[in-house]
Amino acid sequence: MTRVLYPGSFDPITKGHMDIIWQASNLFDEVVVAVMQNYSKKISFFSIEERLEMIKYLYRDMSNIKVISGSGATVDVAIQNECKAIIRGLRSLSDYDYEVTMQEINREISNNMINTICLFADTKYQSVSSSMVKELFNLDKDIIRYVEPTIKEKMLIKKRRTRFLRPLSLQNRKIIYRKLLRLL
Ligand code: ADP
Repeated sequence: MTRVLYPGSFDPITKGHMDIIWQASNLFDEVVVAVMQNYSKKISFFSIEERLEMIKYLYRDMSNIKVISGSGATVDVAIQNECKAIIRGLRSLSDYDYEVTMQEINREISNNMINTICLFADTKYQSVSSSMVKELFNLDKDIIRYVEPTIKEKMLIKKRRTRFLRPLSLQNRKIIYRKLLRLL
């Protein structure tokens, strides 16, 4: 059985990521999607637990797609989960440059145990990234072309909640105080 690891931040998972998962699941027996704790990206939209839950929900009917969370070196997560290789998605030359370096390092630190396999992004999703989705979403633009409806829904819920938690303006504070006074 050939099991491969697809690591990423998936904050949030896009249709571009899902296309790579689909391609990999057609090539290998099992795909392990690993939501990795990425220390360089300090500010995240969703917590690791939220991302894990959403991706698990998307693949709830796919027995050959497993979803886990991971931290530390990707090669260690791959070895712990008995994966033969790491899957990465290529959208552009800048992705390629980054992946060439990463695969070299990963091969070296795993003593040639873990190889990297790059799959090409679908032309439809070549310019799609999680950051671009978040940017559009913050500008109140529709993101349905880039994410599944359940992900968009979760993003809207999160936005409503954080809006509620944001410090109130003086005007809003006055309105709330007035309402509270009326209740007393
Ligand atoms: P990273 O972990 O590199 O910060 P992501 O978590 O967004 O980035 O992506 C995980 C993997 O998925 C990377 O290999 C990335 O190149 C790839 N990927 C991201 N978006 C797309 C897309 N639209 N199409 C194909 N591959 C993608």
